Amino acid sequence: MLAKKQYRPLDAMVYPRFSGIRTFMRLPHVTDLEGVDFAVVGVPFDTGGTFRVGARFGPEGIRNQSMLLRTYNPALKVPIFDICSGVDYGDLAVTPGYLPESHKQIEQGAATVFASSATPIFLGGDHSVSLPLLRAAAARYGPVALVHFDSHSDLWSGYFGGKDTHGTPFRRACEEGLIDTARSTQAGLRGSLYDEADAQITEELGFQLITGPEMHEIGMKETFRRICERVGDGPAYLTFDIDFVDPAYAPGTGTPEVGGFTSAQCQQLIRGLVGVNFVGFDLVEVMPPYDSEGGVTCLLAANLVYEFISLIALRRRG
Ligand code: MN
Ligand code: MN
Repeated sequence: MLAKKQYRPLDAMVYPRFSGIRTFMRLPHVTDLEGVDFAVVGVPFDTGGTFRVGARFGPEGIRNQSMLLRTYNPALKVPIFDICSGVDYGDLAVTPGYLPESHKQIEQGAATVFASSATPIFLGGDHSVSLPLLRAAAARYGPVALVHFDSHSDLWSGYFGGKDTHGTPFRRACEEGLIDTARSTQAGLRGSLYDEADAQITEELGFQLITGPEMHEIGMKETFRRICERVGDGPAYLTFDIDFVDPAYAPGTGTPEVGGFTSAQCQQLIRGLVGVNFVGFDLVEVMPPYDSEGGVTCLLAANLVYEFISLIALRRRG
């Protein structure tokens, strides 16, 4: 009998952290997911962007900054690779400039990953990619609870006459029955709007809403308590728009909004979601062309993905 392959990062005591091919966390690039616990998957598509573009370079930028990550997470006390076999699956195929075609490709590519033993973590890409990712997730698990961190609701019914942009994915997902809104939360929403009605869409569609200003009032602990209470035991999907973070900490994004959250607050929030039955994750809207020197946004994104991986490991340990 063949022993199960245990995929883990390159040994940093043998290969220094600046060396090797730029996969996420220096994991092996593997597309056979049999027996694999988690897979990092790039979705380099940004034709859904309505202001700045450049999120097609997000996966590459996040991978670049992920080389510093070490295998033990002391905050959650988790030796990730004693529990998990993890890989970098590479990028899904897309057709730049062609949104419907690309969404089809992304859905098909994601379906293959969801059909495997691996919990996927997708690196966007603009936020429009969450729609085909949710289609693939719901095809596998049924409607999922959405845990959505963003400074925007992305619930518009259309934008510039288009039904599919990075401002509309969750409206489409609601219409298609992909989300169990009664178990879902949107958190961090803030910034100027076009209309008073825009502020009410989230709750009208049945989500729990915790706005950015409210989060500053109640703190991170009460925020994740409310999210966990709402989400229950069923399948959940976490989507993290990097513009949830304050632009001081994450300038490299498409539609920045001030009054956001620090790097430390983001880590605290994600760590507070231990035990939630997440079947998939995405982290979107990272734009290396707008990042500050040294890749601050990409570094934070890589570290947030690391917290997602830690949640997967804790869940698998049981
Ligand atoms: Mn946003
Ligand atoms: Mn968004």
